[in-house]
Amino acid sequence: MSDVTPFYLSGKPATGDETLQVTSPWDGAVVGEVAVPTADQVEQAVADLHAVRHEAQATPAHVRAGALDHISARLSERAEEIAALITAENGKPLVWSRGEVARAVSTFRWAAEEARRFAGDLQRLDTDPAATGRLAVVRRFPRGPVLGIAPFNFPLNLVAHKVAPAIAVGAPILVKPAPATPLTALLLAEIIAETDLPPRMVSTLTVPNDQMSSLVTDPRLPVVSFTGSGPVGWSIQRQAPNKHITLELGGDAAVIVAGDWPDLSAAASRIALFANYQAGQSCIAVQRVLIQSDVYDDFVSEFVAAVEALPTGDPTAEGVQVGPVINDAAAERITTWVGEAAEAGATVLTGGTREGRNVAPTVLAGVPAGTKVADEEVFGPVVSVARFADLDEAFAMVNSSRYGLQAGIFTTDVRAAFRAHRDLEVGGVIVGDVPSYRADQMPYGGWKDSGVGREGVRSAMNDLTEERVLVLTGL
Ligand code: NAD
Repeated sequence: MSDVTPFYLSGKPATGDETLQVTSPWDGAVVGEVAVPTADQVEQAVADLHAVRHEAQATPAHVRAGALDHISARLSERAEEIAALITAENGKPLVWSRGEVARAVSTFRWAAEEARRFAGDLQRLDTDPAATGRLAVVRRFPRGPVLGIAPFNFPLNLVAHKVAPAIAVGAPILVKPAPATPLTALLLAEIIAETDLPPRMVSTLTVPNDQMSSLVTDPRLPVVSFTGSGPVGWSIQRQAPNKHITLELGGDAAVIVAGDWPDLSAAASRIALFANYQAGQSCIAVQRVLIQSDVYDDFVSEFVAAVEALPTGDPTAEGVQVGPVINDAAAERITTWVGEAAEAGATVLTGGTREGRNVAPTVLAGVPAGTKVADEEVFGPVVSVARFADLDEAFAMVNSSRYGLQAGIFTTDVRAAFRAHRDLEVGGVIVGDVPSYRADQMPYGGWKDSGVGREGVRSAMNDLTEERVLVLTGL
């Protein structure tokens, strides 16, 4: 038991009959052994979440906000330890793991602030003569216990994006971390267990994938907040059509480089980094760079040089920016897709190879439609470049994707920025930067196959709650 990391059942550490091994994507070393709950333990957690729902929503704001502040402070105190753990189980370079912890510190702090001001609204009814003396109080109440399912690529942040808003609104939550990266989520669960929240309010359980359907369809968990791949996300929606479901799915984010941008070299370096950060395993990593024809040649040569200059290798080494992808199957899939694109006529400007799980940062030009790289989320360090003549063409290229998470546009033209905001079929447009920018104050989510619903602390709090009106009479 001592070497097995427990899961957290109703706020308490526990183990089951089986365990799950976690290995490093860098060198295959065993990082940890994690307890897996039995079906009875999962049932206990769900029963507890259901039973505690009224107590959870009645928990005073100062207790919820205080808990969120505590979690933020403890993540900050243990930042270096947590960053090392993220790198060990996920393989992302330390610099990105540190950034992830810093983000989670701010996510919980921001959620604490939102919990303090999440109050509701007053609406006059006496604008209608028949309603003289009437007033409506509108407050949002939790829809009920939440099933929060997280992917492997941000083992802390994407769990934080589920847990922090749930605590902020007083919604019980069952957190299901990704099997490849459960250790960070369980460390977070340990910190959550230090707070004064009702213990039954948060369970973090490493439920095996083949047992997830019964949770997805369980009526005691009326809300499912899922971040992960499209096939799993849409299957959840099909299985539970009557539930409130948020799906944060994949993308093939595009960035537009307009000819008016004054510093192409800086844009090239920035895009090179965010096409390859986390080895491209981010839903808003740049996958497509669209460049205005008059600056195409200059930009592409700077861009390829910037990609080739990225430090790759051991994610625990200071200064490394690009580490391995999560497993052998992912590395194999990515290089196969690159090979298929090359065979179909794409030019490999750099990369295209791999050593084990380390895929070389790859730039492709002239990727033909109908190839996987053109049509699917690559989720690896692979980016394609293409030219456009004018913004109409660039916007059509962005919108030709079945995905629509975020887009970036490097332009100084404010009208182009507003047009992009209006015309691009994405959840967010970033002007003067890569599409990979995200802050917890802003709504975040996708159009089309990138999902439904919005996260970002405030948006997620709205999503986890439903308006309920109280009508007062005789006033
Ligand atoms: P995945 O879909 O394989 O797994 C995500 C989670 O779902 C894991 O916890 C997994 O155990 C669980 N799961 C698997 N089968 C399930 C089932 N049948 N029922 C319920 N849950 C099940 O995704 P992944 O490979 O871990 O993550 C990569 C994907 O996540 C990419 O497509 C990426 O774009 C997406 N992603 C999206 C966002 C966003 O905010 N839009 C953020 C990060 C990652």
